[in-house]
Amino acid sequence: MRVHLVNPSELAFGTAVITPRWLYVLAAATPEQFGTPSIVDETLESFDALTVAPGDVVGIGIHTGNALRGYRVGRLARERGAFVVFGGIHASLFPDETREHGSAHAVVKGDGDMVWPSVLADCAAGCPGPLYEGGRVAGASFLSARWDLLPPDRYMWGSVQTVRGCPKHCSFCSVWRTDGQEPRQRGVEQVIEEVVALRRKGFRFILLADDNFYPVTQADLAAAARRSDPGPLATLTALRQERFELMNRLAELPDDLVFYTQITMEAGEDPEFLKAMRRARIRGALVGVESVTPEGLKSVFKNFNDAGDALVTKLQAFRQHGVQVLGSFIFGLPTDTPDTFRATADIAQRAGLSFAQFVMLTPFPGTVDFARWEREESSSTKVGGIPLNRYWLIPPSERPKIYTPHPLMAAHEIRRGTQATWDEYYRLPLIWQRSSCVRSVRARLTFVLISKLYRQMYADTGIATDSARVARSARRARWLARIVRRFFIAAPMPDLQVPPLPRPSMPIGWATEEVS
Ligand code: SF4
Repeated sequence: MRVHLVNPSELAFGTAVITPRWLYVLAAATPEQFGTPSIVDETLESFDALTVAPGDVVGIGIHTGNALRGYRVGRLARERGAFVVFGGIHASLFPDETREHGSAHAVVKGDGDMVWPSVLADCAAGCPGPLYEGGRVAGASFLSARWDLLPPDRYMWGSVQTVRGCPKHCSFCSVWRTDGQEPRQRGVEQVIEEVVALRRKGFRFILLADDNFYPVTQADLAAAARRSDPGPLATLTALRQERFELMNRLAELPDDLVFYTQITMEAGEDPEFLKAMRRARIRGALVGVESVTPEGLKSVFKNFNDAGDALVTKLQAFRQHGVQVLGSFIFGLPTDTPDTFRATADIAQRAGLSFAQFVMLTPFPGTVDFARWEREESSSTKVGGIPLNRYWLIPPSERPKIYTPHPLMAAHEIRRGTQATWDEYYRLPLIWQRSSCVRSVRARLTFVLISKLYRQMYADTGIATDSARVARSARRARWLARIVRRFFIAAPMPDLQVPPLPRPSMPIGWATEEVS
């Protein structure tokens, strides 16, 4: 019985930016007796069903965006006589759908880290159960990924997870409902060991693939301090302290390492945290800005973000501390108007963002928005016989780009406005202007290439309705990705060791002070 793990994708680029972590974590969770899993990341190349033999296990991880392709892979695998097991956010939400459309024998709900060996044992015995509850694994039990199985020369960035869960409750996001609102932080030394393993292989750019790297804000601490029960404040303080311990340890690693993460804007009002990020060489962060107006933020339950000029100041604070920001904006909020596109592009430029992404509001399953939309959207609206509120089952070429009716703009206006904002923001002169965030000419040229690649991979293949444009962009992205990868990879350091632990007598705040 061979184990195959498949990350489905409709488009293959040959080279990918970020290592798909779940594949290598499940490989680590695969007991030795089942051999080394065969790993297929379809963002590199397509799954070949002929590699599957009767009695093999094919594990497929899906989110809403790749569910349809995942179901096709599942059917192909089952035709070959394999046991088909689905996991991932989408499978956790729609286990019956994976059986109906993906020929699943079994579904894993929640985290797969601990439950995977039981799934495999049952398959080996010829009787997989229909449903396995993986639950929410505690931070101390997160597995390290089997990076030794990575194919050579295919990925630009490594990925390591340090925390799951997010205490916020944004209406368009499923993270807080699936991963929970209680942050589950991983042991510092486990994180460091994994980073060292990646650097040994030549990865020097590493994504800290967290739901929210800043789970405890100053406002949270202040609110806890006002309570008569000292317990919550002690818990939050300990969580925050662990973040500093992690950043202090990252700072001790080879100085060519560069980290990126995802964080809420509130970190912009916490200079001590920003300084620690800088010391740790966390050079960039994706910040969900979402909307530039207070009304827009309120509509997505993200009132903790700033708007207007306060937003510009908050985002600039990251840059002043050496943290480059990839700002993420949503278009199509009910409060948006035709002027929103230009106003957003203007703020993105003024705030000194290094990169920006502009996405169209999509009701993703597992979110508050989806639950509301699913109720309101009559299932009599169909595309090719498929109800619109199951849009991910519609073939991508026929799938609408906008689902939620807007009070002021037609769907095509929102799509065009979004595309135009990408086009404007990623014009060459503006990219060159933004590239001043790095110093050398080589670094600036790399910045330009990355900006172009980012746009090709995420805007032109995701927003365009013209299939010729999508195909052309995918070809260009393939070509660009091969070139850009060379700028990210360094010489391997096979002998790199985990730095020794600091002396236990060291006072707790010693390393959080800025030294540069
Ligand atoms: S969008 Fe970000 S801040 Fe909001 S719930 Fe999701 S992970 Fe948390």
